[in-house]
Amino acid sequence: MDILLQRNAKGRLFVISGPSGVGKDTLIDRLIAQTDGIMRSVSATTRSPRANEVNGRDYHFVTHAAFARDIASNLFLEYEKYGENYYGTPVGPVKDNLQQGTDVILKIEVKGALNVRRQMPDARLIFIAPPSLDELERRLRFRDTDSADAVTTRMEIAQAELKQAMHYDYMVVNDVLDEALAQLRCIITAERVRVT
Ligand code: 5GP
Repeated sequence: MDILLQRNAKGRLFVISGPSGVGKDTLIDRLIAQTDGIMRSVSATTRSPRANEVNGRDYHFVTHAAFARDIASNLFLEYEKYGENYYGTPVGPVKDNLQQGTDVILKIEVKGALNVRRQMPDARLIFIAPPSLDELERRLRFRDTDSADAVTTRMEIAQAELKQAMHYDYMVVNDVLDEALAQLRCIITAERVRVT
């Protein structure tokens, strides 16, 4: 019994990646709404907020100077440049939540995900893939939050990212949202009952 109690004492770290526009935010929001004991890490970024984004909820929107200071102070678990901007995972809240037994989701790009795995080998990496590249481009243009140039850049990065999916523990194709969500919930449940 003691062993079982110990097994559940710490939270698990889930790293979710996938091309921009694949629907990660919707999936993660719904997953968290339907699942107890799991929270999402809020990254810092030098990108400007989109119209619907709230500082402190979607990201901590910071200047390049503030981001550089945080790097120097070792405040990030990992950070990467993506397009023209920097994105980083604040290490403090992640470690605090895991310590308290809460599962944590990081929504980060591929290089950052592989970096996290090197530092925290117990992290589980989940890749969300689009049904096709054409469908991904359609979703990005429909979302209408990026310029045509930015969509082109995001599509180029997406193609490179898809090639990295094989390094992940799980891959979920987000074609029908409810099915992808059900698969994601199964992964979380399976990891929670896994004997390590
Ligand atoms: P977006 O600008 O679309 O919000 O994010 C661009 C990319 O940066 C996405 O793939 C997103 O998952 C990733 N990203 C967001 N936060 C972080 C982070 O803290 N670290 C890393 N490495 N990537 C991040």
